[in-house]
Amino acid sequence: MTTSPRSTADSFAARYNRAPDGVWQGPGRVNLIGEHTDYNDGFVLPFAIDRTTAVAVAARDDRTVRVSSDFADAVATVSLDDLDDPQLAAGTLSGWSAYPFGVVWALRHFGADLASAPGFDAHVASDVPTGAGLSSSAALMCAIAVALNDEWQLGFDAQTLARVGQLAENKAVGAPTGIMDESASLFGRRDAAVFLDCRSLDSEVIDLGLEQSGLEILVMNTRVDHAHATGGYAARRASCEKGARLMGVASLRDIDSDDLPRAERELDDETFRRVRHIITENQRVLDTVRTLRTDGPGAIGALVNASHLSMRDDFEISVPELDLAVETAQANGAVGARMTGGGFGGAAVALISSDRVGQTTDAVTHAFADAGFREPECFTVHPADGAGRAL
Ligand code: ADP
Ligand code: MG
Repeated sequence: MTTSPRSTADSFAARYNRAPDGVWQGPGRVNLIGEHTDYNDGFVLPFAIDRTTAVAVAARDDRTVRVSSDFADAVATVSLDDLDDPQLAAGTLSGWSAYPFGVVWALRHFGADLASAPGFDAHVASDVPTGAGLSSSAALMCAIAVALNDEWQLGFDAQTLARVGQLAENKAVGAPTGIMDESASLFGRRDAAVFLDCRSLDSEVIDLGLEQSGLEILVMNTRVDHAHATGGYAARRASCEKGARLMGVASLRDIDSDDLPRAERELDDETFRRVRHIITENQRVLDTVRTLRTDGPGAIGALVNASHLSMRDDFEISVPELDLAVETAQANGAVGARMTGGGFGGAAVALISSDRVGQTTDAVTHAFADAGFREPECFTVHPADGAGRAL
């Protein structure tokens, strides 16, 4: 799999027998810190990565939309008339094409006039691993969203496109995700992270300075697939809503560490631990941003490590594979390590000196073999620019 714009254009031409109008790309993301805080109106600090999803698009002169992907052989087809429906009739969308078709539908929700828009053909290629917690879903959503924003000359800003992607994930795919992933994919900058206030949607680019510090981000993909649309993610979301309701606040953003004693008195143990994770994680994001500004990335390790423990013990979204990857990286000299993404599988990340990448990769691989786990996939990623036109 590759996302070179040229090869994506070639794949498009092979499939549709014509050249695309252009190629757009959306990166995956790593969340440096701030997990499950986004849907609690809190703070997150992700960055876009140098692994991207590319989409080649050409307009059609009818109302048909066709999408294909290196990922799945069949071409999925829908009519714009079916997507021009505020309620989105049940059964219109299924499978992976719910992501691109969902973006079309969500663009309509934000004011795009689908009645006068031409159909299009699109081909997708990606080197973002799916289901690894690197948000291949947002990479895809954002690639399609920026492509159609240009093709249809919609003039939406990046913040609106992030909300389009989130709405499509929530309503067309049925995954109750927050605004973080799309924001990272759209606002990312080279060697920088995106500090996002998920309540106001204000974002600020924060220099990471990894290169000058001799540090790398090592992704350790456990290859334990998570399933966002079901199970634990939705349960954690429900616990947070319950905690906020019982604490009498609109969202957990509205309480801080001063409220922890009251939370402990008023909430059952499980809800209290969920709430404590959110409160402390929000504070860790703020502390990380401050520390990056004053002392650089070499100084954020304790915050990153504490985030992992909070997710493991209070939020209970880690799995043994993630814990082993984190502990092995820490034992091999990582500045800090934590699971990243929604949890229950996917990837962990380590902030690590460049000269320790090989040794740590070997150590994690051996530790997984010894534990009888599936072989992990380890690779470095670099903070990269956000979604846009590539060709
Ligand atoms: P994550 O975002 O962590 O990778 P998700 O479950 O949210 O995991 O999204 C993965 C899903 O997104 C895939 O199962 C598939 O439906 C869709 N998807 C992502 N990338 C592609 C792609 N390149 N081609 C087709 N579908 C894709
Ligand atoms: Mg996703």
